[in-house]
Amino acid sequence: MDCLFCKIAAGIIPSEAVYQDEQCYAFADVNPQSPVHFLVIPQEHIASTAHTSPAHAPLLGHLLVTAAQIAREKGLDKGYRIVINTGVDGGQTVDHLHVHVLGGRHHNWPPG
Ligand code: 5GP
Ligand code: ZN
Repeated sequence: MDCLFCKIAAGIIPSEAVYQDEQCYAFADVNPQSPVHFLVIPQEHIASTAHTSPAHAPLLGHLLVTAAQIAREKGLDKGYRIVINTGVDGGQTVDHLHVHVLGGRHHNWPPG
């Protein structure tokens, strides 16, 4: 297992857990960019959205629904930003698909 987020999902590398089920794990980002910043990852290793197929549709839907549910529980009533960086041009630095959820401040558009 040579993937940072696989190790985090397995508990080999510690993280601040937010939510967990058989399909996904959510945890606090170690370098938060907003007052609320957590990541939702599949338990299964998927390198990025570029590595998905139609068979992943239920899992990808589950990641987004879970992100929204956690955001609701954290009281992000004014909204939040969901980001999935993909590949070099997308600014992806960890090659295990992850959904960023950023909240607690206004987020500008377009991003950098
Ligand atoms: P990316 O740039 O790939 O979209 O996002 C990777 C994110 O993972 C970054 O926001 C970074 O702060 C976070 N991250 C990197 N290493 C760790 C770690 O060891 N623990 C946690 N909790 N977050 C990490
Ligand atoms: Zn992985």
